[in-house]
Parts: sequence; C-alpha cells; structure tokens
Amino acid sequence: MKQRLLFLGPPGAGKGTQAQRLAESQGLLHLSTGDLLRAEVAAGSELGQEAEAVMARGELVSDALVLAIVRSRLQSHAGGWLLDGFPRNVAQADALAQLLEELGQQIELVVLMELDDAVLVQRLLSRGRADDNEAVIRHRLEVYRQQTEPLIAYYRERGLIAPVEAAGTVQEIEARIASVLG
Ligand code: ADP
Repeated sequence: MKQRLLFLGPPGAGKGTQAQRLAESQGLLHLSTGDLLRAEVAAGSELGQEAEAVMARGELVSDALVLAIVRSRLQSHAGGWLLDGFPRNVAQADALAQLLEELGQQIELVVLMELDDAVLVQRLLSRGRADDNEAVIRHRLEVYRQQTEPLIAYYRERGLIAPVEAAGTVQEIEARIASVLG
C-alpha cells in the first residue's frame, strides 16, 4: 500500500476524519497543519499568537510558518506519512517538493476528496469550530478555489491525483480511499 500521501480537497470534505483513521490503521504519521496550528494557538505560543487572527478570518497563515512546522516533523520521521491541509497553494507545493528532495522521499499519491459546496457548508456549520461561522466558511471556500484548487492540475500533471467521492458514510468513504491506495 502507498504510504507517502497527501489529502487534498475543500474544507468540510472530511480530510481530517479520513486521514486520522487511515493513519491509525496503517501506522502512518498524520500531519495536519490545521491541527498543529490550533495546538499552537491553544498553547499561546509566539507562533500561535501570530496565526490566531489569520485563522479566525479564514485566510492562510504564512507559507514560511507552516513550512517550518512540516519540515521539523518530516525531518525527524523515517516511516510513511499523510499530509492533511498542506500544501495549500503552489508555493507550498514547490517548497514541499524541495524538502522531499532533500530528504530523498517522494509523494506516492494525492487523494482528492470531492464534495458539493452545499454539503460542505452544511457540514462545517454543524461542526461549530471557532472559524466555522457562515461568513468565514464562505471565505475559506473562496480561498480554497483561488489558492488550493490549482494544486489539482499541479499534481495531475505529475500523475498523482486519485479522486474520491466524499459523500456517504465515514465507512463508505474509507473503503473508497482504501481501494485507490491499492
Ligand atoms: P479546513 O480543512 O476546514 O480548511 P484546517 O484545519 O485544515 O481546516 O485549517 C484551518 C485554518 O488553519 C485555515 O483556514 C488556515 O488559516 C490555517 N492553515 C491550515 N493549514 C494551512 C496551510 N498549509 N497554510 C496556511 N494556512 C493554513
């Protein structure tokens, strides 16, 4: 089974849920930049203070900051991994490619989770996280379209995209993901 993976898709598609389950069942490192940033905010670290207002607006934290987080985790990890919420724009994807080259590693597959906007907004509204009110959700979707969606073409050109329908039960989606991982 492939074990160096990216999870790509809009906010609300269920990346975090599926990434966590897969990482646990396969013994992969689950690296969620959103979770790591929220932990920094909760700890009140300097990094967290820098990120908090940006996250509350639904915008992207600086590339340098998230890259530093990812670099430190990947450098100290030898096994498989699953990146969730990173990269989120082309600059981050280029930086990741460079980091992986330094580490002598390669992305094996990009799991693209696909879901309609109406369902996304409903899911996010019912989740109730600090950055989950309707105006901020709409803005996060816009940021996704503008900055993150171009990564689909980026990774498609590299032959790495595996689309997965993200509607249905957690178990149904889990089975679809397992089948594309081969
Ligand atoms: P969602 O999947 O709902 O978009 P995340 O937990 O992945 O939520 O991210 C929440 C917020 O954290 C984002 O809106 C953004 O402000 C910040 N963030 C997470 N990952 C990144 C990243 N790779 N680059 C910049 N900002 C990020």
